[in-house]
Amino acid sequence: AKGMRLDKLLSNLGYGSRKDIKVALKARLVKVNGELEKDPARHVDPEKDIVEYNGERIEYREFIYLMLNKPDGYVSATFDNRDKTVLDLIAVEYLVFEPFPVGRLDKDTEGLLVLTNDGALAHRVLSPKKHVKKRYFALVDGEVTGEDIEVFSEGVELEDGYKTLPSQLEILESGETSRIELTIYEGKFHQVKRMFEAVGKKVTYLKRLSMGNLRLDESLELGEYRELTGEELLMLE
Ligand code: URA
Repeated sequence: AKGMRLDKLLSNLGYGSRKDIKVALKARLVKVNGELEKDPARHVDPEKDIVEYNGERIEYREFIYLMLNKPDGYVSATFDNRDKTVLDLIAVEYLVFEPFPVGRLDKDTEGLLVLTNDGALAHRVLSPKKHVKKRYFALVDGEVTGEDIEVFSEGVELEDGYKTLPSQLEILESGETSRIELTIYEGKFHQVKRMFEAVGKKVTYLKRLSMGNLRLDESLELGEYRELTGEELLMLE
């Protein structure tokens, strides 16, 4: 049967530690299906049983999906010995769901990063077979040319011999520092930076604009995040 201990449910939803929940139960703050409940080990099915805390019905969700505008200086991991991680930007009310980043951006890369606790979704989006597209904006040292567009459209051979899938390079402005947008269909380590290295140029700033058809909400400041709408969630795949 589906379900979990009442204290685990409430604590997962951010109502405090298991100890706090025990106190709340004793204080007669919790009802299950209209009846006072004092047993922290009471088994409940959060999708069927009506659980009230202090007179309010709790909202149970299994999954959360967040869109973060990742700033420079944070690693895309759930834990790191030295560096700040993207989870350091997330409030505890979401951390209780144990989200993790869907894929990685380099520590110095900014922009769209989705965080979720939905492992199946993450797996689908990251599957190399699905070729979910990713669009980036970059500043590049040196003049990006029509020849680069050509080379990128056929696939670039990286320094380790791997040839990337065809990609679409768009030059916004070419000059001493060029401004470009690039769409790629895979996610090799440092891919965008390495693609430009392969044509003798250096990426000095990188920002992810979109993943699948999901675009970064530009009203989010660096380090800010919000939940995805249902519509946006469908655009990710
Ligand atoms: N390509 C890179 O080089 N870095 C990123 O963070 C993402 C894509």
